[in-house]
Amino acid sequence: MALVEIDHVTKRYDHLEVISDFSLDIEEHEVICLIGPSGCGKSTLLRCVNRLEEISSGEIRIHGDRITGPGVDLDRLRRDIGIVFQGYNLFPHMTVLENTILAPTKVLGMSRREAEEKAMAFLERIALTHKANDYPDRLSGGQQQRVAIVRALMMEPMLLLLDEITSALDPELVSEVLDIVRDLAAGGMTMILATHEMGFAREVADRICFLQAGKVYEQGPPADILGNPQGERTQAFLRSLR
Ligand code: ADP
Ligand code: MG
Repeated sequence: MALVEIDHVTKRYDHLEVISDFSLDIEEHEVICLIGPSGCGKSTLLRCVNRLEEISSGEIRIHGDRITGPGVDLDRLRRDIGIVFQGYNLFPHMTVLENTILAPTKVLGMSRREAEEKAMAFLERIALTHKANDYPDRLSGGQQQRVAIVRALMMEPMLLLLDEITSALDPELVSEVLDIVRDLAAGGMTMILATHEMGFAREVADRICFLQAGKVYEQGPPADILGNPQGERTQAFLRSLR
């Protein structure tokens, strides 16, 4: 059974159909990159998977359990599924350490001491222990995004959703964030990424899905989708990036 099953999902905002009868299965340890023009529904899809948005019809299952519709424990769901956005991820009035220990202490009931030890171990892995007691505005955008990823990892999610996490960064800061994602992929983390970084998608993705008007227009291994796309829309999109 796939870890995530997105099963005939449609999402409408009023009359605008943003996700259209969309189906996609994601296997455990798989890294899927969603690509496609702005407005094609990448963010909406990710937000539906952890219920920041409600779908209009269809069903999403994790490990076979329905996570859409009524009667779902949303706290539990958001513990299991981490999400990192393009920007503004950290609470500005909390230090780096406070940001990272907030959810585990509040939601999981972890002791402050245990949470701090865990956070410091993560911060060490990304070479940011020296920033632990700083406020986010003292960090570069790349450092902030790395901390945002650590904050998501503190909950030991079974699935990580990453929505254009490098789009707001200066080019020289992109690689330090992608390095972490690369490490997570190597460690077997299941991830769905919306990204414009095609070089990175080619390297890290097991599968690339090109979205067009809320549907999977074309999908396959990176070498096929990026190197030899079959669909006219995929070809045009990739040409537009060059
Ligand atoms: P992408 O992330 O691929 O750029 P989005 O998922 O953000 O695309 O947006 C898909 C479509 O949904 C766009 O047409 C966007 O304007 C629309 N949309 C997104 N969020 C909302 C919202 N809260 N209300 C109405 N329309 C929205
Ligand atoms: Mg988006």
